[in-house]
Amino acid sequence: MGTATAKKTDPVLAALVDIVGEGNATDALHIRYAYSYDLSFVEPKLPDYVVMASTVEQIQEILKLANREKIPVVPYTAGTNIGGLTIPERGGILLDLKRMNKIIEIDTQDLVAIIEPGVSHAQLAAELAKHNLRFGWPVGPPSASVSSCAISHGIGGMNARYGLQSQEITSMEVVLPTGELVRVGSCAIQPKAWHSTLPLPKLDGLFKGWLGTTGIVTKLAVNVHPAPPILKIFTVSCDTVEDMVSYMFNLSNYEICDDLTAVSWWLSQVPIPYPYRPKPDDAPEWNSYATTYSWTDKEREAREEIWQKVVEEEQARGSSVKVTHYPEEALRGRTQLPSQVVGSTKNYCKMAGAGISWPGTFTPAKKWAPVYTRWKKILIEHNLSPAVRMSMYRGVHYGMLRAMIPFNKQSKEETENARRAIIECLKIDLDEGGIPYKPPVDFAREINARAHPGYLMLLKRVKAMLDPNDIMNPGKLGI
Ligand SMILES: Cc1cc2nc3c(=O)[nH]c(=O)nc-3n(C[C@H](O)[C@H](O)[C@H](O)COP(=O)(O)OP(=O)(O)OC[C@H]3O[C@@H](n4cnc5c(N)ncnc54)[C@H](O)[C@@H]3O)c2cc1C
Repeated sequence: MGTATAKKTDPVLAALVDIVGEGNATDALHIRYAYSYDLSFVEPKLPDYVVMASTVEQIQEILKLANREKIPVVPYTAGTNIGGLTIPERGGILLDLKRMNKIIEIDTQDLVAIIEPGVSHAQLAAELAKHNLRFGWPVGPPSASVSSCAISHGIGGMNARYGLQSQEITSMEVVLPTGELVRVGSCAIQPKAWHSTLPLPKLDGLFKGWLGTTGIVTKLAVNVHPAPPILKIFTVSCDTVEDMVSYMFNLSNYEICDDLTAVSWWLSQVPIPYPYRPKPDDAPEWNSYATTYSWTDKEREAREEIWQKVVEEEQARGSSVKVTHYPEEALRGRTQLPSQVVGSTKNYCKMAGAGISWPGTFTPAKKWAPVYTRWKKILIEHNLSPAVRMSMYRGVHYGMLRAMIPFNKQSKEETENARRAIIECLKIDLDEGGIPYKPPVDFAREINARAHPGYLMLLKRVKAMLDPNDIMNPGKLGI
């Protein structure tokens, strides 16, 4: 990082340099610029300082300083959230936690990994593989942070079986906006026990889904899982979204998949077409992969038998479902890092000029088909591809419905066009009972506009209690 050029004249910068050391705090414009934008449609804004902390004590000192001086603080790990969540709405300190990247422990008996906030998906996957263990990762960049994804209710490759990344969290250490250090989960009672948030009151909820507005997570423990040796991915296509949803409903009842996902034709293209182009008439509109793991061949055969039964049942009722064969690299992309197909941002927005955003939602599966049909119309009207994904969570009929929307970030008009289309899509989903995850400020406003007054009151009260001076990532919740 650049040197603290203005240290002598700026007391805040001088104090920050005293805390983290020369070279780890700066107000240099070229560095602040690099943290002022992301891939999304959200307008760039400059932080006043960029700081790279390396210890919990440094974070405590920074937050005490910021709280005293009422300076906003934005926690940051890789900035890949595609919702403007690390864009500093009100300037202040951009606190990059990448240097805190230790895997503190992998407890192979309790099946828990304790990590610092800068640990990446690739780093954890590589370490777990040495112990024949695994943890799901998103189809985003492997260099992004495991803990940021988990505390933001991120989605990984094992969600059909184990739930969201946040549902894997077993303990946390957090620095509050006022600088105090707290712990939640079993590690709060016995410093060496990181195995569970239960049966204590679930205080981890104060830091999950809050978009970095209630504190800075400095240690996180997550459950990790044994990696069975036999991987089998079942792939099908359907001509209509209704047929695909029916197949997914049916298959998810048997709870045999770690991941049960379907992608529209536009999302299965590398890169996603921009602007919109029609799919070829003979191409099915939907493709699905169902990832299963087995310990023995007999177990795999049993899973295959169930899957075949589902396909036959669907075909018998007139569905267009067909068994298909995915390219090997696409299959690997869901289950191995690194991948040429998944996790590489260029594959999503290469045709579009480096912009990408999403209406990413958790939506009841019974609403996927009607919402997709309306999204498709809106997106095509805006000359955007309906690159949509549907994934089941935890074996129930509920899960992710999201569209990945590439756009040309070099053009204000094209960015605004994408933003408008995305907000229009989002409103439809909210009205059907869906809830956006990792919501940009524009989405938060739409959520709050529909919220029960008691929910908003509670949200504001909790926020004010934890962050009395509103310094933590201010503005992000739209309150
Ligand atoms: C092409 C593409 C595909 C993607 N696909 C998926 C997907 O399938 N599933 C999915 O879940 N995500 C996906 N993502 C989003 C993203 O990659 C992941 O959520 C990622 O793990 C976020 O990590 P990050 O390090 O970039 O977090 P950042 O963007 O740096 O931070 C995310 C949020 O967490 C807050 N934060 C960061 N660190 C802390 C901390 N220690 N304490 C408190 N708050 C903190 C930040 O302020 C911000 O609000 C995708 C992204 C791209 C570009």
